[in-house]
Parts: sequence; C-alpha cells; structure tokens
Amino acid sequence: MEYELVVGLEVHCQLNTTTKAFCGCSTEFGAPANTNVCPICLAMPGSLPVLNKRVLESAIKLGLATNSKIRKRSTFARKNYFYPDLPKGYQISQFEDPICYDGRVEFELDGKPMSVRLIRIHIEEDAGKSIHDIGTETYIDANRCGVPLLEIVSHPDIRSTKEASAYLQKLRQIVRWIGISDGNMEEGSLRCDANVSIRPKGSETFGTRTEIKNMNSFKNVENAILYEAERQKQVLESGGKIVQETRLWDVDKLETRPMRSKEEAHDYRYFPEPDLVAIEATEEFLAHIKAELPELPEVRRARFERDYKIPAYDAGVLTADRDLADYYEDVARVSGNAKAASNWVMGDVLRTLKEKMIDVKNFPIDAKRLGETIALVDKGVISNDIAKKQVFPAMMESSDAPSSIVESRGLAQVSDMGAIEQVVNEILSLNPSQLNSYKAGKKNLFGFFVGEAMKQMKGKANPQLINDILKRKLETI
Ligand code: ADP
Ligand code: MG
Ligand code: ZN
Repeated sequence: MEYELVVGLEVHCQLNTTTKAFCGCSTEFGAPANTNVCPICLAMPGSLPVLNKRVLESAIKLGLATNSKIRKRSTFARKNYFYPDLPKGYQISQFEDPICYDGRVEFELDGKPMSVRLIRIHIEEDAGKSIHDIGTETYIDANRCGVPLLEIVSHPDIRSTKEASAYLQKLRQIVRWIGISDGNMEEGSLRCDANVSIRPKGSETFGTRTEIKNMNSFKNVENAILYEAERQKQVLESGGKIVQETRLWDVDKLETRPMRSKEEAHDYRYFPEPDLVAIEATEEFLAHIKAELPELPEVRRARFERDYKIPAYDAGVLTADRDLADYYEDVARVSGNAKAASNWVMGDVLRTLKEKMIDVKNFPIDAKRLGETIALVDKGVISNDIAKKQVFPAMMESSDAPSSIVESRGLAQVSDMGAIEQVVNEILSLNPSQLNSYKAGKKNLFGFFVGEAMKQMKGKANPQLINDILKRKLETI
C-alpha cells in the first residue's frame, strides 16, 4: 500500500534578548555555571516576575512576519512538572490564549509556492540544564532558567521531509531576518519536535501520530522523520497499530526509540499565572512594532526580481540573509549595474565567504569598493579578467580603493590601437602554422590568436579592440 506522510512541527526559538524573560539576569551563553541567576529565576519565595518588553516585541514581530493574528489580550499560565533543572517546579508559558495564532509561513520548494499554517506562537521560558558528564554526579546549571523562548506550532500541513526542512529553513531565515534570534540549530537556538503520522494515500483522516524529540540539525530532522515514517509503515503492514507516544531520535544509531507513552504523558496541570498581569497589545504598540519591522524576505525577493531585473534564482540567493541583501543592494547602487553586481556577489563574494568561513558583515571588501570595481570594468578602464584576478584579490589584502590599486599596479586596460596592432602583428608572425591552418578554413583558431595576444599584453588589452584588429588583419592577409 502507498502511504502519505503527515508532519506537524513544534519549534522552540531562543530569543536573543540581552536579559531573561522575567528578570534582569544576563542571557549570555557560556558564563560560569549558576552566575547568571537571581532570586526570581531561582524561584526564591516572595520573588515576583516582570515581563521583559523586548520578549513581547519579538513575539509580535514574529507574529506579524508570519501573517499571524495578534491577540489583543493574552495571559500567562504555569506549566507544572517536576524536574531537577526546574527550580520553580513549573515553567511560565501560555496556554489557552497565546499571543499569536492563525498564521502561515510561505516559501518556495522546487519552484512551487508552499504554505504551512501556524496554530499558534506563544512565549515561554527555558529550563536550566542538567550536566551528567562530570564524574558520576549530576550537576545543575541554572543560567538558562528563564531565558526567553517562542514556541511556534504548525498545523499538520507538511507532506515530505523536504517540505519539513524547507519550512524550518524559512522559519530560521525569518527569525534571523527580523533580528529576534540567531536561529542556530546546532547550538540549540532553534529546537524542533516533529509530530509524525502516515495514512493510506488518498485517505482524508489522519493516522495516529508519534512525537519525535532531540533533533539538532536540518539533516537530523529529515532523517528522523524518514526513519519514523518507515517504522510506522512496517508496524501497520505487519498488522500492528501505532501507539501515540514520544520518541527520541538517536543520532548515533540513526533510529527513534520510545521515551514515554500517552499513559505516561505529563499532566501539566496548567493554570493561570497569578504573578503576571495580562498582556495588552494596544493598537499603538502594534503600530510601533510594525514600523520597526524590516521589509520581509519574500517581499524583498520579489522587489529584487522586479527592480533589478535579475532571475528569480538570483533574487532568492541574494535575499537568503538580510546582511547579504543589504550588501547586494549597495553594490548594485554604487556600480549602477545590477546584473553584474548579482554575478559578482553570487560568484566571487559568496565563494570567498565560504572559503574563509566568514559572514558578509566581516567581508574585507565593502560594497562601495566592489561597486566601484564593477564601474571600472563598465567604463573600460580595466578588463573583467583583471578585475577578478588582480583587483579583487588585492582588495582582500588591503583597504585601498580599486582605482588606486589599478594605478599603482599599472592594471589599466590598454586601448591604444597602435600598441595592440603591434602585438597582433607579432602573434601572427610568431605562429605561421596556425595562421596557415586558419587560412585553410580552421576558423576556430581565431580564439587562439586572441588568447596569445592577450597573454602577451598580460591580460590588460581591451578584448574588443583585439577582436576588431585581429579580424581586420586576418581578412586582409
Ligand atoms: P496536543 O495539544 O495534543 O499537543 P496539538 O493539536 O497541539 O496536539 O498538536 C501538536 C502538534 O502535532 C501540531 O504541530 C500538529 O500539527 C501536530 N499533529 C496533530 N495531529 C497530527 C497527526 N495526525 N499527524 C502529524 N502531526 C499531527
Ligand atoms: Mg503540543
Ligand atoms: Zn534572574
């Protein structure tokens, strides 16, 4: 029987605020254990939480960026469970009335528009960390207690591992773009649980789902979903039934295994958080946040295609990241040649960033210098070849302007007809056998002569002039 995969994702996104969600403690990563703590996040009796305004702003920004509805009035709830790394014995979360609901994340997959609906986005706090790998003891680090998270819950709209991955990448792009999180999956700022079920192809009803935890990379998410779907298929085909349960992805064994069944599921005994007032999202506050929101990636992508007349593919690559998009626009503006700017950024710049493992913010060649280099090529001052092989590498090493590099190294293109003609004559007389073959009909030797002449002139000759002069010579010989 053929089955269809059904997936809904629950994503936890760690916000990049400098202080915690309900106290003034630092969120700095890597501080010595239990140094970023205070009576509030350590749950001392009598301490009272206060909501960090930045956390609320971040939640609303993400809501707006995902076409969600923003609730005018939403409240906090306590999610109770007992665990050593949770000093309060509960997490502050939201339950019945999350701040954002009914959103959607739109993206493209293999050129096809896709949309995954969001059930909700809510604010919650992180728990601490248990450390098991020091001797035989377990230690607790409470630095992470109270670090702000947004939980983004999708509808079961995802139908393949590729879609799951594309959705996650889009979500990551959005949170980075609007500046609320670094979105780093490997470091845990994006954590994803996958709800997976399968159903006979064509069936309208959903099958029983399992929830998979512990996947910390896009590849792991894909592998875990694929494994789980196959496992469920084998259970069904051998006459068994899927048990609703939570399963753990084992990265080493590449398999999922049971963690707890529905019967063992936590009863979180949610109840309203009495220590925090309700969030009132006034029109004024929403307007203020809207005004702060940058042009969103999909909008910018469409604008790049339209305004700069670059292919959809280019526009997608150039808007993968907001800093890159800013960089490209600056290069396009300074050079006055949007298409050439796109070729340079997508080619030489991205390749160099990858090689040097740096991001565009730390790229030694700023947009102004690259734009000026492109303009020098367009004005015929230097050839494209010289720009790529000489000026670009030189700019990587120094902060000199491209025009002074051209001048100090004598890279200006030779457009002196007399000089080029002399070289062309030399080349023709130095290569009599090629010249004879050319005359006998091997016309593709034209390129050989161009190449030889260019080599002789150290790449600095105006290629158009070489072509013209050579053509004229060969016709008259
Ligand atoms: P609960 O309240 O029991 O956690 P939710 O309705 O909140 O259930 O769903 C949790 C997640 O599970 C959501 O991301 C949702 O899309 C997903 N989900 C629900 N039913 C299924 C199913 N049959 N197959 C796959 N995912 C599902
Ligand atoms: Mg749930
Ligand atoms: Zn604190």
